[in-house]
Formats: sequence, C-alpha cells, structure tokens
Amino acid sequence: MAKYTPMMQQYVKIKAQYRDAFLFFRLGDFYEMFFEDATKAAQELEITLTSRDGGENGRIPMCGVPFHAADNYIKTLVERGYKVAICEQIQDPKEAKGVVEREVVKLVTPGTVMEGAMLKEEENNYLASLTPFEDDTYVIAYNDLTTGENSVALVTDGFDGVLSELFNRPVKEVVVPTTLPVEQKNGLADRLGVTVSEEDCEELEDDVMALVVELQLPKLKVGFARLFHYLKATQKRAMDHLKPVQYIELQQFMKLDMYSKRNLELMETIRKQGKKGSLLWVLDQTVTSMGSRCLKKWMERPLLQKDLIEKRYNQVEGFQEQFFERESLREALRSVYDLERLAGRVSYGNVNARDLIQLKQSLSKIPEIKRLLADFAEPQLQQLGERLDCLHEVYQVLEDSIQEDPPITIKEGGLIKDGYHSQLDDYRDAARNGKKWIAQLEKQERELTNIKSLKVGYNRVFGYYIEVTKANLHLLPAGRYERKQTLTNAERYITPELKEKETLILEAQEKSVDLEYELFVKVREQVKSYIRPLQLLAEQIASIDVLQGFATVSEQNGYTRPEIGDNQNVVIRQGRHPVVEKVMKDAQFVPNDVEMKDDSTILLITGPNMSGKSTYMRQLALTAVMAQIGCFVPCEQAQLPIFDQIFTRIGAADDLVSGQSTFMVEMMEAKHALTKATERSLILLDEIGRGTSTYDGMALAQAIVEYIHEEIHAKTMFSTHYHELTSLEEDLQQLMNVHVRAEEYEGKVVFLHQIQKGAADQSYGIHVAKLAQLPTTLIERANAILVQLEGAPSERPVVKEQPNDRQLSLFTAHEETEQLHVKQPVSQTEQSVMQQLKELDLLE
Ligand code: ADP
Repeated sequence: MAKYTPMMQQYVKIKAQYRDAFLFFRLGDFYEMFFEDATKAAQELEITLTSRDGGENGRIPMCGVPFHAADNYIKTLVERGYKVAICEQIQDPKEAKGVVEREVVKLVTPGTVMEGAMLKEEENNYLASLTPFEDDTYVIAYNDLTTGENSVALVTDGFDGVLSELFNRPVKEVVVPTTLPVEQKNGLADRLGVTVSEEDCEELEDDVMALVVELQLPKLKVGFARLFHYLKATQKRAMDHLKPVQYIELQQFMKLDMYSKRNLELMETIRKQGKKGSLLWVLDQTVTSMGSRCLKKWMERPLLQKDLIEKRYNQVEGFQEQFFERESLREALRSVYDLERLAGRVSYGNVNARDLIQLKQSLSKIPEIKRLLADFAEPQLQQLGERLDCLHEVYQVLEDSIQEDPPITIKEGGLIKDGYHSQLDDYRDAARNGKKWIAQLEKQERELTNIKSLKVGYNRVFGYYIEVTKANLHLLPAGRYERKQTLTNAERYITPELKEKETLILEAQEKSVDLEYELFVKVREQVKSYIRPLQLLAEQIASIDVLQGFATVSEQNGYTRPEIGDNQNVVIRQGRHPVVEKVMKDAQFVPNDVEMKDDSTILLITGPNMSGKSTYMRQLALTAVMAQIGCFVPCEQAQLPIFDQIFTRIGAADDLVSGQSTFMVEMMEAKHALTKATERSLILLDEIGRGTSTYDGMALAQAIVEYIHEEIHAKTMFSTHYHELTSLEEDLQQLMNVHVRAEEYEGKVVFLHQIQKGAADQSYGIHVAKLAQLPTTLIERANAILVQLEGAPSERPVVKEQPNDRQLSLFTAHEETEQLHVKQPVSQTEQSVMQQLKELDLLE
C-alpha cells in the first residue's frame, strides 16, 4: 500500500469494497478508472488506455470519461450486465489538506437503474432476491425501483421452479446469498442472462417493517430483508415510494414452465428474441406505457379463478360494445404520461419541473376519463370510473406553482409562476426594475456624451459595462468612467452607480433563483405526500388501458368471448392461431375445430411435415392463455375449462447452454410434464421420440401416451410421425385420432391445413422433398424405392395391429426391414439416396 501515491492508496481502499463493479473515480472533470478496471473498460467502451504514475510501483493503467458524458458510458456498461460504483469528491478541494475526501455515492446496477435512458418504457425493471431454505423451498422477492412495486413469491418445486418463475418476468439482476451453490449462480447467469449479486443480510431493518407487515410467513420476510438491504447499499438514499410488499400466491395462477413459455412465444419469439411475432405483439393494443407493463404482468400470470376471469370478460365486452366511447377513452388515455414512474421519481427526488408539468397534464385528464367511463352501459366499467381519484389538490398545487414551459435544470430559475409567492415576486420586480434602470441609463449616457453608438452590455466576467468605440473616445468626459476592458476597436467602462445597481440586480436574481429552488422542493414534497394515491391511480389507469386494449384487439381480429365451463371440456369452433393468422401474407388462415369432451382426453395428430400440426397445437395453448388472462379468443365459439398448467414439448427447443442432446432435453421436458401435470392440465407433445432410433422412439412415444391416458388424464395433444400409433385408438378409450388433410394435385402436395377425424393415410415426405427442390432424378428414384417398399412385407413387434400400413416417415419401413434382418436386397445407389434423404432436415 505504502508504495502508492496517497491518492492511489485512497483509490485502492475504496475499490476493495467494490470488487465486482467498475469504480468511476472522480478526478476533477473526469471519472478515472485504474488497473484492471481500466483495461476492461477501455475495451468495453472503446476508449483510450493510458497510464498514470502510481508511486514506487511505476505506472498504473488508466482510462477515463468526462463527467458530463458519463451517463452514456455508465449506460453501456450496465446494459451489458456490469455494475458501476460512482465515487465522488465529497469535499471542496480548497479545504482539503492532502487528498480530497472521496466516497461512493451510488452503485448503479442492472436491477436498480433509475435514469430514463437505461429503462424501457414498456417494461418493468426488476431486481430480485433469492433465498433458499433447508426444505428445498425458495423465496423470491421482487422490486422495481422505478415504480416502487414490491412482491414476493414462494417456490416449492425446486431450483427448476425458481428458473421458471424468474424467467417469467423482466428480471435484470438477482441478489443471492454468498453460500448459494456455484452451479446455481451460474445457472441464473447463463440461462436467464441476469446479473448475479451477493448479499447476506437477512435481518429486516425498522424502516421497512411497515412494508412487510401483511406477510404471514416469516420466510417471506427474510427474502425481502436481503433485497431491501441490497437496495439500500446501492442507492444510499431514502426510497419513500416503495409500496407494501404484495404476496404472489403462485397457486392462484396458471403455471407455465420456462420451456413452455419459450416454446409458445408468449412474450418474444425464440429465434429473433423480440416482441414481434409473439402473442404479446398481437395483444398489445394499450396506449400508455403503464398499460403495456400491466399487460405483461397479466400475461405472466394467467388466472385460475372463474369469477375473476369473467369479471374481466364483462369489462372487455362492455368496452367492445361501445366503439365510439372506447375510441374517445383511448384518446384521453393517450395523453396520460407514465404516472407510475413519475410518482417514483417524485419521491426519489430526481424529478424536474417538466416532469411535474407532465404529472399535471396527466391529472388534468382524469376527470374526462371518469366522465367517459360513466358513458358505458356496463356497470363494472362505470365502477372503474367512480373509483378513480382525480387528486384535484395535487393538480391545483401544480397548476398554481409551476411554469408551463419550464427548463430541465431546476437550479437556474424559471420554474415558478408569477403570483405564487410574494417574496419571489418582489425579487423578480427588483431584478426587472434594475434592468429597466439600466436601459434608462444607456439613453441618459448617450445624451450626456453625444455618442449615439454608446451601449450598455453585460458579460459574466465584468458584469454590466458601458461600451464606447475607439473613434468616439475623445467625446467622453474625463474622470467619470473607470476603464475595465480593451477590445480591438472599443473600450469598456464602469461607473460606481452602474456597479451599485448591478449588485442589486444580481442579488435579486440570485435570491430569486435560490428561492425558486426552495419553492420547487416544497412543491415536490407536497406532491410526494400523495405518493400512495398516485400509485393507486396509476394502477387503475393501467388496468383500464389493458382492458380497453383487449376489447380493441378482440374487435379488430374478430375474437369471441369464451365460455368457462365447470368441467374439463374443450370445444372450439373455427379456432385460429392468433399470431400465425396475423403474419400470413398471401394465404388465408384455415380455421379448425377442437373437440375434447369428457370421453376424450388425448388427440393423436398425424399428418405430413408442414401441414399445420404444431400450429394447431399451439393454437389451443395460446387460446387457453388468452382466455385465462381475460381476453377474448380467436374462434367463433369456445367452451373452455380453466387449465391449472400448460406443458409443451414443441419444436426444436435446443438447449445450447447446458450442452445436452436434443433427445435428452426432450425427455427432460416430457418428464417434467408427466410428473407435474394434473387432470386439469394441458399437455402438448410434438413428435416425441424423434431424437432416437425408430423403435426406441416409437416405444417411448406409445408408453408416454398410455401413461397420460391411464395415470394423468390431462387434456393432451400428441402429434407424431409414427403412424403405427394411430392403432392405439382401438385400445385407449379416451384417445382420438385426427389428421391434417393434404391432397395431391397434379403430382404436387397441397396442404389444406384442415384437421379431420381419423388417421392420415399417405406419406407426403417425397412431395415435400420435391417442394424443397431436390434433384429430379433423386425424387424419381425415391418414388421408385417407395413403390418397392410398399410392396415389401413388414412386421411390427410393438404395436399389435396395423390397420393401416403406410407410415408417414420415409425411412421407417426401410429401417425396420434392416433391424428385423429381413433379407431384402438394397443396392448401393438406393443406400446412398436414402442416406442423402436422411441427412436432409425438412423442417429447416
Ligand atoms: P407441422 O407442425 O405439421 O410441421 P406447422 O404447424 O409448423 O406444421 O405449419 C407449417 C406452416 O403451415 C405454418 O408456418 C403456417 O404458415 C402454415 N399453416 C399451419 N396451419 C395453418 C392453417 N390452419 N391455415 C393456414 N396456414 C397454416
């Protein structure tokens, strides 16, 4: 230590407390970084790496960013998941003996950013904490600093459950105990892409007790202690806007594991990782960012209580029925700013006068929104309106005090209206009168000296002065003027009188600016005392916005109100896939029915690749999710149960991170569904078993179907290319075959995308290969082989009967003959053609 210069010693000491953050060390007009921080930051931020004399140790790597441009650099680092500790000089350098005192005033982390540039308007920014308990339960506490929201959940299904729960929400950072196993820490970082931070405090501090009183379980409080302690350590300031912690009872909501959420592309698409193409993208017809965030929350947690769901339907229907009123309401909502985050910033203390004007403008819209809601015939919508509090007092305070078009800075005046405060008015008068006096002086001096070009000016360094061009200097009377500054062709003078007035003006101005700031802070404090009602108002506006959004999207896309039954029956007439129908350009989406009543739990779906099997399956899952968040659904008529969970194993959800084989992932997802599903769940299994050899896969697929049929009784859609499985219909009472119709037309296959009862009866593989434009000779050869194979005898040891011998798979028959050692001549060319065909992934 002693080997460093005193300042570097100070640096090293502070850095030791913030090892996992970039330390932005304030040095004059720059934030400097040293050592490893410097080399890493130079790379990340593409700034020049230099060095500095460190004392006996020689030179130390260094890089820096100017403090006025620091925000952007901080943003870049935080967006990449890093943390930044801001270390300021907390002492006036003039007063310092030796090194200026410095202190970290704030730790900016991905989960705790407050500044606008780093936040997405339409998305919450959650910090979460994770606390494991010995009984293998976990408490997850959430906070969104920007809105003050706090909530907590108890996960009882192990670490997988933790991942699924966290995956649910836009979580940026997770705070864990130092003792959490490394593989779990890595799991969080790798699989969820969140920043993992450590914090061991599990003791609640007094000032947050009030926020957790409602929580019954002591465990939950422990989780929140960790979270809150971390928040304090990073923010180092009061956070009065934090709302009481809400307990999210996970059993009250439909459960969707991480795989299903990803597979179903609820919030974002798998490949592009963006909103476009997701269910959210279709459903989001909200007009405020509060509404948009609220919609996501609803989608994260579909409901399980029929009365709550139907209440939403009533409201949506009410909105849907009155188009013009709804349009007017949308218009009014559009002028409401982000009340929730404004409220957050008011109490956080980083609100400026423009924000307060936005708040005022938003509040000015509430009476109109109330009036508009009263115009709806639906009583529940009228009630929504009646419950809104216009917060007239807040509006009035802002209306009286804050200028309409204030500057962004709050320390240079121009914020407070005339007439709001008499002392301020006096100062302003004094300043104004002084300026008038000066204008008068110019006139007087011109007359006195007879110099027409004489003028009175002002600059920051010399204050007010009288300027005379060099050509006129001889006209000035001697002795009256004191020379202050010489320019190329003019001289500037002052007089004692002028200076006296100047002092008055500047004093008045300074006092008025100070007073304005003081008044502004008072107004802010006044608004702050209304934080809770403001937050409540924001929540109400947000849900009104989501509900009108549901009505809007339902009307635009022709959705209908589902009927929620008290049994497990599923009946959908003319159902559509909400996203696919939106993205189809030329073709028309073909609607399909789904019927699974008491006597039918499993639909076994066969049909060629690309015919629409997985679309049909996803369609049902998405319809169920839409129904349970309170939205209408894409069909002509729907009777639906309330599903407690949805499990999916669809498509190529490759788990690249954990490096498991596709087949292993497939089996794990299947296991997950088979162990967790109840008879009230929905299971979608797409082409299970394709990742292994034919018999192996087919045997597994059949066993899975039988297991679901016998043990689980969950509504299940099972698509397969093992045509043999269709014979299960004869043995399994609750299983029904359906297939996707495709027809041949002039030697080409035409997908009709129509679901029909019964099993499919033809192989279209070669036609698909043809559509994929494989060489003509190859196609011809494949056709010939097929004919040959069709003629060949085949035995099936697994499935007893084979009412219909044609497989959907191009290869099955051939492989079977190989495996059964049925001697059948296979030519070299034939082998190579089959090999080529096998290597083609027709799904891609
Ligand atoms: P499969 O699962 O049978 O391989 P997909 O469900 O992936 O087939 O559907 C393939 C394509 O067919 C989809 O991308 C979509 O464009 C189209 N498609 C599927 N279902 C329909 C439908 N009902 N109406 C119109 N087009 C459809």
